[in-house]
Amino acid sequence: MEHLYSNRVRQLKASEIREILKLTQQPDIISFAGGLPAPELFPIEEMKVVTQKVLSEMGQEALQYSTTEGYNPLRSKIAQRLVNVGIKANKDDILITSGSQQGLDFTGKIFLNPEDIVLCESPSYLGAINAFKAYECGFKEIETDKDGMVLAHLEEVIKNTPNVKFIYVIPDFQNPSGRTWSEARRKGLVKIANQYNLVIIEDNPYGELRFEGEMIGSIKSFDTEGRVVYLGTFSKTFSPGLRIGWVLASPEVLNKYIMVKQSADLQTSSISQRELNQFIDMYDFDAHVAKIKKVYKIRRDLMMNTIKAEFPAQAEFEIPTGGLFAWVKLPVNIDTRKVLVKAVENKVAFVPGGSFFPNGGQENFMRLNFSNMPEDKIVEGIKRLGEILKEVM
Ligand code: PMP
Repeated sequence: MEHLYSNRVRQLKASEIREILKLTQQPDIISFAGGLPAPELFPIEEMKVVTQKVLSEMGQEALQYSTTEGYNPLRSKIAQRLVNVGIKANKDDILITSGSQQGLDFTGKIFLNPEDIVLCESPSYLGAINAFKAYECGFKEIETDKDGMVLAHLEEVIKNTPNVKFIYVIPDFQNPSGRTWSEARRKGLVKIANQYNLVIIEDNPYGELRFEGEMIGSIKSFDTEGRVVYLGTFSKTFSPGLRIGWVLASPEVLNKYIMVKQSADLQTSSISQRELNQFIDMYDFDAHVAKIKKVYKIRRDLMMNTIKAEFPAQAEFEIPTGGLFAWVKLPVNIDTRKVLVKAVENKVAFVPGGSFFPNGGQENFMRLNFSNMPEDKIVEGIKRLGEILKEVM
């Protein structure tokens, strides 16, 4: 049947680690693998009240088709909340999507022809790499340091690469590195995009989950020519199960996303949008985010302190100042895919870093999620990983 598949599907490769990671769903595994929020923080009791209210007050509307752009009261609330990342917007600038993952897929569909090149941070988010890959593009990885993309490298690559359409970045508490861009780099990126007539895709699921330090304005907030597309989501500040994200873009670009959304799935779930909107009306959303941040900060501290105490001294890491992930670099001769096999035998899991480099070749990293596991399991899991690393190093 192989010849029946499209070129775009034929070139996709199944992930080698997917089978191993399936094992992480066993109940006795300590998993630092997924990017999962802490489930005990989901406001379940409040959502029971909210769901009742939505169904009794607007049941027909909630179960009916609705507009592609999204539920207006929710679009307005999103626009208002964007001041938290320095953006002034109104509801018409926003399209509600089924998670920001859908925004990534649409980005590929809108901008990429086969053979086009996506510029991204090295490393970058695996889900975005896979979404873009389906549009038969290639990738050029741009060097990063603790302040973000190294802009001199970016510019050199742009000058030497035809068919570049956009630069994809996660400037806040990046998945997987946990790093956050400085303001100077953000402004510098906008300047380069203006100069070379490129689009910037700013993917920001973690920006509101800052544990310390001052908020740095989003790249979109420094956009002078309407060339930044901003992707947001409620997955990490509220619940990934509702599947609510959004795209913020200039009217011309947003129109393309709306057209593509229409042909993809007509609209985002009517009931999910109304439930979330009702939650924000009835409860204190900021207090909810503050509660999440408090728990994640404790878990981040615990994970980093335990790594420091239990991992071999050659393991290198930075302390992420927000988000969900820690990123550990091991000596180059250590293949973390092999480490994962041993780890899963010992009932602990993480994601080997290799998958986050679209052009491959860097197997000595591990991504560790600190938001999902309770405190005692964080300590126990990191201790087990430490034992394994001492053995293999
Ligand atoms: N972008 C990044 C950087 C992510 O880490 C994730 C979730 N892991 C997403 C997008 C997709 O999130 P969602 O579709 O749930 O909004």
